[in-house]
Amino acid sequence: MIGKDKICAVVAAERSRSMWKQLERALLQTRTVELRLDWLLTEKEMQAFLRRLATERPRATLIATCRRREAGGRFRGTIASQLLVLAEALRAGCGWCDLEIESASQCPPELLEVLIGGGRRLASAHFFRAHSAGWHSVAARLWRTRPDAVKIAANSSSLADGLRLLRLANGKRNIVAIPMGEVALPLRCLALREGSVLSYAPVEMATAPGQVPLDALKNLYRADRISRKTRVYGVIGDPIAHSLSPQLQNAGFQARKMDAVYLPFLVHNLRDFISAVEPLGVRGFSVTLPYKQKILRHLHDCDSLATAIGAVNTVVVRGAGKLYGYNTDYIGVLRALQLRISLPASRVLIVGAGGAARAVAFALAQSGAAVCICARRAQEAKMLARAVGGEAVTRGRLREEFFDAIVNATPVGMFPAVERSPLTEHELNCRLVFDLIYRPVETKLLQLAARRGIETISGLEMFLAQGVAQWEIWTGERAPVVAMRRAVLDALGVEGKQNFRAQA
Ligand code: NAP
Repeated sequence: MIGKDKICAVVAAERSRSMWKQLERALLQTRTVELRLDWLLTEKEMQAFLRRLATERPRATLIATCRRREAGGRFRGTIASQLLVLAEALRAGCGWCDLEIESASQCPPELLEVLIGGGRRLASAHFFRAHSAGWHSVAARLWRTRPDAVKIAANSSSLADGLRLLRLANGKRNIVAIPMGEVALPLRCLALREGSVLSYAPVEMATAPGQVPLDALKNLYRADRISRKTRVYGVIGDPIAHSLSPQLQNAGFQARKMDAVYLPFLVHNLRDFISAVEPLGVRGFSVTLPYKQKILRHLHDCDSLATAIGAVNTVVVRGAGKLYGYNTDYIGVLRALQLRISLPASRVLIVGAGGAARAVAFALAQSGAAVCICARRAQEAKMLARAVGGEAVTRGRLREEFFDAIVNATPVGMFPAVERSPLTEHELNCRLVFDLIYRPVETKLLQLAARRGIETISGLEMFLAQGVAQWEIWTGERAPVVAMRRAVLDALGVEGKQNFRAQA
């Protein structure tokens, strides 16, 4: 065991004062902290920080790291000066130091023992590019330098890659395994469950790709409390970083004190994710852009509504890894629209013909609305219009047509491309505009509509309703809606809250 707390905060700053502030913030969450001394800009800053450390001696397991540039760090000095910094950090109160293999392999173990004295040493290896290394042989090489623990951090471009690395730690003592990269982010949350003795999280500045910030790793994903019994859920999509589903779903689990976690999976390759469902013990997942239709071919079965829509946003994993699909976007659309317009008497234009557009089209058609579809691919628009007994409308006609409502079901205008709008101001001839996008709450399209005096609805209302329905499908219980709503509003910040409350 390295520290009592298994989440290791990474403290990294260019100035001694900001490094100290980060350390204080880290200690509010965990008593295991890595100090990235190589980030300090000058020798003077480093000395100032170590002096303060020696004076104040915080009660924590501190790991001193002074990684050289050759191993992906920022320290420009020689190996000898690196070792001197580490020795001084140990004297100042660090219980551990981390020395990369590039340096350790240049020193006889006896010399390292003398230099490091009573401190303990983590021998580390970093692979920032794709690597086909046999992790057991890398670990054996590290153990030959006679450290107290070993750490391997490797870029993992797939979940399969990351899982291979995590298996190294399974059932062993004193191995830290860190799959790096955006795709492997959920594996950082599950690393402790898989046997890694630490999972690293930055307080402020990311020091490696795919890191989860300390606050999120500890309080949103509760990585140090995930065990084999914890039910794992998630959301798959590309991109996924904008999604507030983790805030929404985890708030539900936490409010009900359930041993469950919901993780964001950035999926570039659907097969890679499907193959990881069983080894990771995933019990269910949400599906977002661009997989709502692509997921269908991986399902064992689908409920009749989702089959009719031809798109799935909710998957339940049952025995033997069999996947069952549902669609809760349908419920979300109706909740958002029904309060504002009388659907049976209205003519509604849907922009886009993808997964969400299909759910909107079926929901509206079944409620008696006349449905029109406009999509950049005319054939897709015609097919969806035909499926719901509606009409395809070309973009050129929009300036002359009038609709009761226009619904944007494309991702145009979604964070981060917030300046874009799927339609121009002159194409908004309607009483109501509903943008399915919820981030930002007030999209460019909604701003254009408001400027013309048109009533607007943000995608947030639908987002909440579809997410609550997912939570209830997975757990079989009534969702704690108030806590879930509050978590999303908090994540969106005050501005989002005001806009949303004004609409609700
Ligand atoms: P999808 O299945 O990939 O469909 C996207 C649709 O938008 C397709 O018709 C696509 O056309 C079209 N499109 C994409 N980029 C475009 C562009 N630059 N110009 C014109 N059309 C474009 O995605 P989805 O799952 O339906 O999601 C669509 C949006 O709805 C996303 O922003 C998503 O976040 C949002 N959504 C919100 C909620 C909620 O709860 N609020 C729920 C579901 C979805 P092509 O087929 O030609 O690519």
